[in-house]
Amino acid sequence: MNAQTSTPAFDVQRVRADFPLLARTVHGKPLVYFDNANTSQKPRQVIEAVDRHYREHNANVSRAVHLLGEEATAAYEGARDALARFINAPSRDELVLTSGTTQSANLVAYSFALPRLQPGDAILTTTMEHHANIVPWQIVAARAGATVQAAPISASGELIVEEFVKRLTPEVKLACVGHVSNVLGTVNPVRELAKECRRRGIPLFVDGSQAVPHRPVDVQALGCDFYALTGHKMLAPTGTGALWARKEHLDAMPPFFGGGEMIREVKFSGTTFAEPPHRFEAGTPNIAGFAGVSAAIAYYESLGFDAIRDHERALLDHATARLREVLGLRIVGEAAEKEPVISFLIEGAQATDLATLLDLEGVAVRSGHHCAHPLMQFYGVPATLRASLAFYNTHEEVDAFVAALLKVRRLLR
Ligand code: PLP
Repeated sequence: MNAQTSTPAFDVQRVRADFPLLARTVHGKPLVYFDNANTSQKPRQVIEAVDRHYREHNANVSRAVHLLGEEATAAYEGARDALARFINAPSRDELVLTSGTTQSANLVAYSFALPRLQPGDAILTTTMEHHANIVPWQIVAARAGATVQAAPISASGELIVEEFVKRLTPEVKLACVGHVSNVLGTVNPVRELAKECRRRGIPLFVDGSQAVPHRPVDVQALGCDFYALTGHKMLAPTGTGALWARKEHLDAMPPFFGGGEMIREVKFSGTTFAEPPHRFEAGTPNIAGFAGVSAAIAYYESLGFDAIRDHERALLDHATARLREVLGLRIVGEAAEKEPVISFLIEGAQATDLATLLDLEGVAVRSGHHCAHPLMQFYGVPATLRASLAFYNTHEEVDAFVAALLKVRRLLR
């Protein structure tokens, strides 16, 4: 086996054998899946957990006294335990299970931010955020007569920390930052930002969607107030996610969705609500999906983030070096600390044309604005191409991708 593709701690071919989809062909070519920041592929352990749930345990949660109901509840609540362990939350009761980061951010926007915002107040975010970490704040800010402000970034795609700190004024009632940029791969210094926020009594929301697939996260060490994650980018099914929030915040937050499962007693004269986290989990959740979340976390734990990070770092270095050899190619986002996400532009070729032709070569990359219009505006481009890698990718796939890129660029000339 090529020494580049395997370290003693990490056998990428053995790992790939767990991902059935990676073996398929696309347009007659072996698939090179480099769209992992969009959604990850799923190992058979996750697929089997979902399948097993429907074959053997399917029932609704919390409502039934029968055995299947207990098993379904155990699967759902087991995911809360696994997630709490995964991000080192101080208590499982601080984990609200959601459909993903979008729902988590909206819950914080409506339930936490909106009641605290007065006319003239502000929510601070950054120029590099995903729309899920901008638009919910804009909607509630507009309702309250408040504004959303953005801390600037440098040309290399790093947050200018002094500028962020300068904007932490008394009007700011919430600060919001991505842990890792979905476009640039930039890792933001969350611990340092949290310290600055805490010093000023400003709660910090962290969008961890792109961080949890790549690095161990410890919300207590980070020192933030809220941490959102989305399951489908970390090997788990779509429609799963979580919001971690400090207990004092959850206790003070009114419910956002009303319905079954989130009440203590319902009367027409007035309803009382369940304690957090159930207060925020109205309706029937994605139970099978959360069975998959537990399996996904077990999968990460079986590999270990040290091995994952060594392999992903080697892949990122290799991909960056190979792309730099391509004439007329410009990498957008060259932060000192990055996860394996590379956005780039090629002189004289449209990102979407390149992505379409790459697909015909079996290479799946994303082109477009990546739900980050303000970042595209900052760089003065409508779109980039983005190759986003995962621990199951290989050096050979990087080489195949670069070869395909050179081929399709020739076609466009
Ligand atoms: N935040 C970031 C940084 C993302 O990359 C994404 C997904 O692309 C989201 C939020 C939204 O996640 P979801 O659509 O799963 O809620």
